[in-house]
Amino acid sequence: MRCLMCEKRKEESDHFFDYFYEKDPLCYECRKKWIRCKKKRKMDTHLIHSSWIYNEAYAECLIQYKECFDEALQDVFLFPVKNTLKRKYWNRTVILLPSSNEKIEKRGFHHLEKMYSSLGLPMINPFIKKENVDQKGKGSKGREEIQNVILLKENISFPKRVLIVDDVMTTGSTLRACLRWIPKECDIQIYVNSMSVKEYELP
Ligand SMILES: [Zn+2]
Repeated sequence: MRCLMCEKRKEESDHFFDYFYEKDPLCYECRKKWIRCKKKRKMDTHLIHSSWIYNEAYAECLIQYKECFDEALQDVFLFPVKNTLKRKYWNRTVILLPSSNEKIEKRGFHHLEKMYSSLGLPMINPFIKKENVDQKGKGSKGREEIQNVILLKENISFPKRVLIVDDVMTTGSTLRACLRWIPKECDIQIYVNSMSVKEYELP
């Protein structure tokens, strides 16, 4: 099997990791560039759990998946933590954060739906992002605007125990905009697979 990032054959590797984790879509050399995230981030009353720091290697992979439409990478992101997440969140329904319709159409798939499908948990996609608002590089005004473009689809009922997921957390504004739609009675856990270095370094 070839590593999905560097295309090296894992069978030809000198490292035991490549034999031990033969099903990992990345090779040892590529995987070791990903750095585990050891902190939890607090947002309002919620704790945000994360597995990786959003560094260059992670970003390269995510861009290849999301912006270059490389669907084959869908299992790369959760592979090393999949079983831990399955055990921790076994009784929850996954809630996907929204992507604009324009982006989903361009990509041909909802990147989070594919990414989190390996957990085998029930999943809902209750939000609509009205237009393509890219938060990066926007000031506080841009982040306020996002509140107005995240809407709830019609006839959505939220299960009692939910797990909100995303691929990377930067400003958290999309997450915050979605949280205001979720009923107070819900038991909410939040998991973002990676956290930006800036957010990670916050006290
Ligand atoms: Zn590799």
